[in-house]
Amino acid sequence: QVKRTPLIAGNWKMNFDHLQAIAFVQKLAWSLKDAQHNYAEAEIAVFPPFTDLRSVQTLLAADKLAVALGAQDVSPHEAGAYTGDISAAMLARLDTRYVIVGHSERRGGHGESDELIGLKASAASAAGMVPVICVGETAADLEEHGAAAIPLRQLRAALGKLPEGAEFVVAYEPVWAIGSGDPATPAQAEEVALAIRELLRTERGDAVADTTRVLYGGSVSSQNVASYLKQPNVDGALVGGASLKVDEFSRIAQFQ
Ligand code: PEP
Repeated sequence: QVKRTPLIAGNWKMNFDHLQAIAFVQKLAWSLKDAQHNYAEAEIAVFPPFTDLRSVQTLLAADKLAVALGAQDVSPHEAGAYTGDISAAMLARLDTRYVIVGHSERRGGHGESDELIGLKASAASAAGMVPVICVGETAADLEEHGAAAIPLRQLRAALGKLPEGAEFVVAYEPVWAIGSGDPATPAQAEEVALAIRELLRTERGDAVADTTRVLYGGSVSSQNVASYLKQPNVDGALVGGASLKVDEFSRIAQFQ
């Protein structure tokens, strides 16, 4: 089996101003250092709000911290008259490595379509970043279609816009598990992660299927993270609420 480096990703959502962000990342770095975290075992990324990116970038660069920077969204457009949008080129200039696209809070709260999410993934990739494509079913979807059908539809649509050869990460996040304290079981997460990998194999071939990381997200904590990472097709976690507490996120990053 191909070894995939696990990715532990902290999605801060709309929390922390830039001063709080700096304090958080400094504490995180100390905590990981104290714990003698082995960065070869897992990659760690934080996804601050746009207004924090520059401050966090400067801190990471100055202290040579092995934490990657991610953004929570990106415009599908290159530049121009798109008030309020942030372009992929702007993010790439700040050493942003990852960009979340299609988080359920944007699909649901902002009416983002599968197609738009594919265009955002493609824009991120064209600027040299790695889109983290979020997919997941609502509780109603689960009841009506089972767990995998909707995530697979969402992923197929995004891949339709993403050129061959683009690196990407998939995050399986059942909407009913996000922020609910009611996570999917490891077996449920594995079942959908496996279905995602099979789709990748059909759509993109063995190399992409074997090397692409599939994360689980939805009420992940230091108590349950290891149970997901033990699954053969789960290669990391996208963490919301628990990524806002330094000690907790640090423990999650040391899931082994
Ligand atoms: C998320 O928003 O991506 C998420 C997984 O949130 P939480 O960990 O709080 O469920």
